[in-house]
Amino acid sequence: MRHFPVFLDLQDAPVLIVGDGGVAARKEALVRQSGATVTVVAPDRFEARDVRGMRLVIAATGDARVNAAVASTARAANVPVNVVDDASLSSFIMPAIVDRSPLVVAISTGGAAPVLATQLRARIELLLDESWGRLALFADRWRRRIRGAVPDLGMRRRFYDWLLDGPVAAAVRAGRESDADRLLEARFAGKAETSAGKVMLVGAGPGDPGLLTLRALRALQQADVILTDRLVSAEILGMARREAEIIDVGKQPGGHGARQGRINRLLVVHARRGRAVVRLKGGDPFIFGRGGEELEYLRRHGIAYEVVPGITAALACAAYAGIPLTHRDHAHGLQFVTAHCRESLDRVDWRGLARPGQTLALYMGVAELDAVRDRLIEAGLPPATSAALVENGSRPEQRVIVTELAALADAAHRHGIATPALLIIGEVAGLASRLSWFGREPVVDACRAERVSVYGMS
Ligand code: SAH
Repeated sequence: MRHFPVFLDLQDAPVLIVGDGGVAARKEALVRQSGATVTVVAPDRFEARDVRGMRLVIAATGDARVNAAVASTARAANVPVNVVDDASLSSFIMPAIVDRSPLVVAISTGGAAPVLATQLRARIELLLDESWGRLALFADRWRRRIRGAVPDLGMRRRFYDWLLDGPVAAAVRAGRESDADRLLEARFAGKAETSAGKVMLVGAGPGDPGLLTLRALRALQQADVILTDRLVSAEILGMARREAEIIDVGKQPGGHGARQGRINRLLVVHARRGRAVVRLKGGDPFIFGRGGEELEYLRRHGIAYEVVPGITAALACAAYAGIPLTHRDHAHGLQFVTAHCRESLDRVDWRGLARPGQTLALYMGVAELDAVRDRLIEAGLPPATSAALVENGSRPEQRVIVTELAALADAAHRHGIATPALLIIGEVAGLASRLSWFGREPVVDACRAERVSVYGMS
């Protein structure tokens, strides 16, 4: 290890920066965050005595001669010096930083490959969400109490393991510090709360594991039990903690309702055993996912929960089919609608859906395409309005059929479109044939002849 990492306390310390360009300005801003008193000197104004009394010196000029002069003067005066992008002239180098103050991660390659440090930094940025800083502050606030209450070092370490990776940390992360305080107080009072179980209602997105959120991934990796839906892909389940028990509670279309009660009960049973329960749903849990009903049930039974949103099918299918859901020339609004059975069809405001200049995203509509077509046309949507069927959106098997409203049901039938499929209706749907980029090319099947015959019949 050529460079030894330390963290300097620069509060009120004098720091000199030589330079007048953008690099110097960036260094100045960075160093100021430490509370240092920064003096900036232009390259042509630098004099040897500027270095006197400085805690640190940074040379950030574009002029190699000035940089060398600053470096040798500082070294002679025993003041640590950094020359930007020149490790050989520097007595210290500056790391790439991930700042979750008071938690700070510093990364260095010893000047060998700064780009590598930058890349690693980007990864760590993703790994540590902003809650880590809050957690560190929280732990700091309780430090004295903990030291007093748990004098034995080994026991204290185990206490911190519990503190930083259990229900207290979860409460801090959820922005409920007072709950976290109460949990700690209860623990000190010997009333170790055992009901640590909790349910995470997690959106798994449409299928492509790359569309999982970082938070969802974290939940999967901490889960003891996962109750999953039919729509969740095997790749995503493969990312769960190896020890997690996976329970498939997938409901077949049409059979819903009957099993919802069982799912609700399972959630409560497992949470009451103190386990970390993940309820994993395709897409987003609050969009046609009955997430709200499950939360109401949990609330009634006093079970804590968190919600992690997911990328809903409409957004994913549109993106992966090259269909911009809004577009200045074609659509200034968007409606999410479900049409999974005759009953739900009767509750839909078809006139509202038929208004021009908007996009409709229809979930679960494959079985009812003829009804959807008829009602929309009846309500005034032109039969020639573009429509796209996206089957298995975002997955390798994705298929996109671009057609017209009037030919919708026939096209779906002809191509054997099966569930899961999403229907996008509106002018933007036609753009798929130009903007597609993922998987198979879209099939354009407008079938005007049939449209005429459909009308001939009705
Ligand atoms: N909560 C989910 C929707 C559940 S309803 C979400 O936010 O996406 C189930 C319906 O979603 C399916 O019938 C289908 O219309 C749609 N859907 C879900 N995943 C899909 C996918 N990968 N491709 C196309 N449609 C999908």
